[in-house]
Amino acid sequence: MIPAQFDYIAAKNLDEALQLLAQHKDNAKILAGGHSLIPAMKLRLMQPGVLIDISKIKDLAYIREEGGQVRIGAMTTHYQIESSDLLRRVCPLLTDAAPHLGDVQVRNKGTLGGSLAHADPAADWPAPILALGAEMVVSGAKGERVIKAEEFFVDLLTTALQPGEILREIRFAVSKGKAGQSYVKFRHPASGFAVVGVAVSLTKDAADKCQSASVGITGVAAKAYKATGVENALKGAALDDKSLRAAAAHAADGVTVNSDLFASAEYRKHLAEIYTRRALEQAASRA
Ligand SMILES: Cc1cc2nc3c(=O)[nH]c(=O)nc-3n(C[C@H](O)[C@H](O)[C@H](O)COP(=O)(O)OP(=O)(O)OC[C@H]3O[C@@H](n4cnc5c(N)ncnc54)[C@H](O)[C@@H]3O)c2cc1C
Repeated sequence: MIPAQFDYIAAKNLDEALQLLAQHKDNAKILAGGHSLIPAMKLRLMQPGVLIDISKIKDLAYIREEGGQVRIGAMTTHYQIESSDLLRRVCPLLTDAAPHLGDVQVRNKGTLGGSLAHADPAADWPAPILALGAEMVVSGAKGERVIKAEEFFVDLLTTALQPGEILREIRFAVSKGKAGQSYVKFRHPASGFAVVGVAVSLTKDAADKCQSASVGITGVAAKAYKATGVENALKGAALDDKSLRAAAAHAADGVTVNSDLFASAEYRKHLAEIYTRRALEQAASRA
């Protein structure tokens, strides 16, 4: 459990971090909270020659609401999200989800950007970030680009981030009208990560039928995904027990379901359907 030797550089600002990344290329890794990277280095699953620490860059940690959008800096910790009064008011999905991550130590150091960039298939954040239809603002040597959450998660531990790029900000629109959100999770009893985690953000129309529904699921497949089968089944539907059950049955449509010693594919698919129904019920009751 001792990592291979590496150099450590604390970047003073984003420009310096980008320059260092360009200089050291594949030999370097960004260090955010270190709660995924350092364990991986201790297990020698990763052996970067240089760590570029971005945790001293204070202007990468913020939560703001501007012009109907919420903007969260990539270095914002899980605890800062959990304890944000602004988010509790405008996006309770995130304050609901945050306490599900690890323990107090993990939440104090681990960051939203680090979790999303790591793209662990059992991480919690990807599900709410997908359900919110968020956009990732990414900085690189050629400037900035924006990646939709749906396109950001590419595969197991793989994102659309290119070499030399740093995730700078996560942003999404504030829900309007009769809106309800929910995150529910079946924790792995040993690791605490998501065997299944389901995030829902929906709105009701004037007749209390489903106007829009967005569902993100983590833990079930190699990468977190939008459950479009569930979303399509809900459009215009009454949010009653029958239609929520029918929609939830589509939770694992079109994905190859993970199977491991703890949960077979069949069991995990069953959990995905049950937890999707629960998240839909909770979101509908809050809208
Ligand atoms: C005991 C324990 C329990 C945990 N339980 C859970 C859990 O229940 N649920 C859960 O979701 N997570 C859990 N985690 C993981 C935790 O949430 C991590 O904090 C998170 O996955 C990584 O964030 P970090 O800031 O620590 O990133 P780091 O570990 O510093 O970085 C992770 C990876 O992302 C890259 N990176 C980091 N920031 C950026 C950026 N801004 N731009 C580009 N690349 C970047 C790094 O180079 C590295 O490859 C747990 C961790 C531990 C140690």
